[in-house]
Amino acid sequence: MTASEIRSRFLTFFESKSHAIVSSAPMVIKDDPTLMFTNAGMNQFKEYFLGNSEPKNNRVADTQKCLRVSGKHNDLEEVGMDTYHHTMFEMLGNWSFGDYFKKEAIDWAWELLTDIYGIDKDILYVTIFEGDEAEGLERDTEAFERWKKYVPEERILNGNKKDNFWEMGEQGPCGPSSEIHVDIRSAEEKAKVSGASLVNMDHPQVVEIWNLVFMQFNRKADGSLEKLPAQHVDTGMGFERLCMVLQNKQSNYDTDVFTPLIREIEAVTKSKYGKEEKTDIAIRVIADHLRAVAFSIADGQLPSNTGAGYVIRRILRRAIRYGFTFLNTKEPFIYKLIPTLVKEMGKAFPELLSEKNLIENVIREEENSFLRTLDQGLVLLENMISAANSKSISGKKAFELYDTFGFPIDLTALILRERGFSLNESEFEAELQKQKDRSRAATKVETGDWVTLQDDWEEEFVGYDTLETQVKITRYRKVESKKEGELYQLVFNLTPFYPEGGGQVGDKGYLEAPNGEVVYIVNTKKENNLIIHFAKSLPRNPGDTFKAVVDSTQRFRTASNHTATHLLHQALRNILGEHVTQKGSMVHSRNLRFDFSHFAKVSDEELKQVEDFVNARIREGIALEERRNIPYQQAIDEGAIALFGEKYGDSVRAVKFGKSMELCGGTHVDTTSDIWHFIITSEGAVASGIRRIEAITGDAAKQYFIDRSESYTEVQKALNNAQDPVKAVQNLQEENTALQKQIQQLLKDKTKNIKGELLLEISEMSGVNFLAKKLDLDAGALKDLAFEIGGEKENLFLLFGSEIDGKALLTCYISKDLAAQKALNAGTIVRELGKYIQGGGGGQPFFATAGGKKPEGIDEALAKASDYIE
Ligand code: ATP
Ligand code: MG
Repeated sequence: MTASEIRSRFLTFFESKSHAIVSSAPMVIKDDPTLMFTNAGMNQFKEYFLGNSEPKNNRVADTQKCLRVSGKHNDLEEVGMDTYHHTMFEMLGNWSFGDYFKKEAIDWAWELLTDIYGIDKDILYVTIFEGDEAEGLERDTEAFERWKKYVPEERILNGNKKDNFWEMGEQGPCGPSSEIHVDIRSAEEKAKVSGASLVNMDHPQVVEIWNLVFMQFNRKADGSLEKLPAQHVDTGMGFERLCMVLQNKQSNYDTDVFTPLIREIEAVTKSKYGKEEKTDIAIRVIADHLRAVAFSIADGQLPSNTGAGYVIRRILRRAIRYGFTFLNTKEPFIYKLIPTLVKEMGKAFPELLSEKNLIENVIREEENSFLRTLDQGLVLLENMISAANSKSISGKKAFELYDTFGFPIDLTALILRERGFSLNESEFEAELQKQKDRSRAATKVETGDWVTLQDDWEEEFVGYDTLETQVKITRYRKVESKKEGELYQLVFNLTPFYPEGGGQVGDKGYLEAPNGEVVYIVNTKKENNLIIHFAKSLPRNPGDTFKAVVDSTQRFRTASNHTATHLLHQALRNILGEHVTQKGSMVHSRNLRFDFSHFAKVSDEELKQVEDFVNARIREGIALEERRNIPYQQAIDEGAIALFGEKYGDSVRAVKFGKSMELCGGTHVDTTSDIWHFIITSEGAVASGIRRIEAITGDAAKQYFIDRSESYTEVQKALNNAQDPVKAVQNLQEENTALQKQIQQLLKDKTKNIKGELLLEISEMSGVNFLAKKLDLDAGALKDLAFEIGGEKENLFLLFGSEIDGKALLTCYISKDLAAQKALNAGTIVRELGKYIQGGGGGQPFFATAGGKKPEGIDEALAKASDYIE
């Protein structure tokens, strides 16, 4: 069975059990502060388990792109070492939201594996939760009894809380789980050691393939458990592991999910898979990481220096350095593997296909820059080795190399080992831990339990139509963090406040109580589909009805910028071409920022055209045509632009201004003429193939013109009210250049004259031609002068002192012969005399200078010069 058949049979099976098949959510998560990446199929349904909203279907199945590289699920260090953990993998899953429970989940899992896929029953083991006294939890006998129908008792194993009790996070829904494991060892091995003893023991051929989670509890902030009002099923099966079993392989990497990639890596790096362990690990790392990085970029997450982008950068760098160290790749090569990946997976994941160029460009650029870092790091490491006075390098030094230059510690350790040096690794670990603790302390958030005042299912957003309305608080909780201090999160029964999203900032404003008390709302965000208002304090009577008022000035400015962003997008596609797609957007009240794919700098001429295009649409006064709750497909068919990496529901909102039509949840002006005017303030590169434009509109544009006009008047005044200030400035510049030339010439002449005079002033002292004198010249002229005199007079000792812009300078010249013969050193002399001018310096034995803060000391220094000769 090919991988794609295996995938589609899973979906058809659950479709036949009345499940709605949904698509994978993006891998990068935007509305959950506790998660950066989707790490399980259930993430996109969290809002249902939390009771924030009600699902349309209570039976759902899908295949979900997951990434386990940070937080609670972090498999990064395993990947490549073993044969069954990946960073990015597909998780097949079926869900019941308050519908069926353990019985059906178990029946169907068994039917699918043994009937549909035809897996031999005798290679399967299952586990059930054994209970936990401390938590007051009983053994999951319900699951046990059901499994007994299919599986002999000795193959049903008890599992502890670590393996068989699943929790979403520190708080929230949780419950016992039941796992299905396969034993794919040879018959001889099975005869020697029983499979039961290897379950959950990290054996590469006795692995978990499917986990069925039965959510029945909610974990509260104080750690206690309460029963959930509705019971849910959440299952996850590793697609690549399933392929391994069904294709009779011993490793995920030997299935058709990976073999085409591995063949290509072999070809590009001229290496061979399956011969040597180190090479194999490197090839597996690259095959795996390549997928993770490519899918992230397709989802809109580029490698960067912070947050999710930094995680992606680190994954890519791990692949680069495995290639660098074990496959001897010193040039970018990972980007060359993209065509194979796209060929294999582009059908199932069209975003790979359409973003292929961008993925290649970004990866190549990252490879180039990290290879440069590696080169620099190697030089630094060499210096460290040659400066070392023992055969051990301190962990602190290695940490510096790692932290400041991004030089990987395993490479440092490897190189040191090869050179016969040892590394103090525990010291390195300690430094790393210190850094982690610092950042954890800085980002730690204490979250209290929700206090529910009112049960309310649908939290309606009314902010498209009104900025002011009466609301009730339905629930609230307290959150505390170092960064923001103490805040209250409030949820209303309905709200005019727009929550941060789609690049647009959250609304600010206030709540007014019947008694006149005012509570300010400082921000609004969406978390797991819940609109959360952040307040500095809690109203005295939270149960009151409040007047909720959005800051209308901020909202209007933001709306202007958002509409302008759509027009800018349209303009870019018109003027630069249809290849332009949105790669990021920030809509504030003060300005807007728009990132888009484009291969070259946008020329001044093109920028002008873009500005003109947008301003023309503004002058036309095009009215907003808003289409709420239309089916996704209908919107797309009508020409609406959708973005990759965005999570769209079945019904969407389309925002249309003339020929610009986008799927968008943001707030917009009623007519484009509200924007007043659009000005591009900057254009530049963000990454290879991605440009950024920043722009302003409305009030900010007005202010821009006012400021410009004021400075123009100032300039004109400074130019004695010149009629044509530009011409006047040009004249000044020309004049300035001419004057500079004259000064240069005069200085040259002056030096020449001085040289003549000085030659006469040199006197003989103890057989040396000696002169110490104060001169009014700059450093360069003094140097030239010293060398010119030196060229004409032998056996010479010169010391010049000068004052330049309030600072002192000493210049010392000694003929080379003289310096050698009398063991004189100009460097030492200026350093010693430097104390008179409160400074220091140095140079060579025959020429040196010293700078100082005390010009009054110059005479004293000059007076001491003769001491060196006598
Ligand atoms: P393991 O103990 O093998 O790491 P897990 O307990 O972390 O697995 P779950 O969180 O229950 O796994 O995830 C559900 C299923 O997803 C697993 O049964 C497995 O088939 C698959 N899976 C989990 N982690 C990975 C991974 N890193 N790569 C590939 N498949 C995975
Ligand atoms: Mg795991």
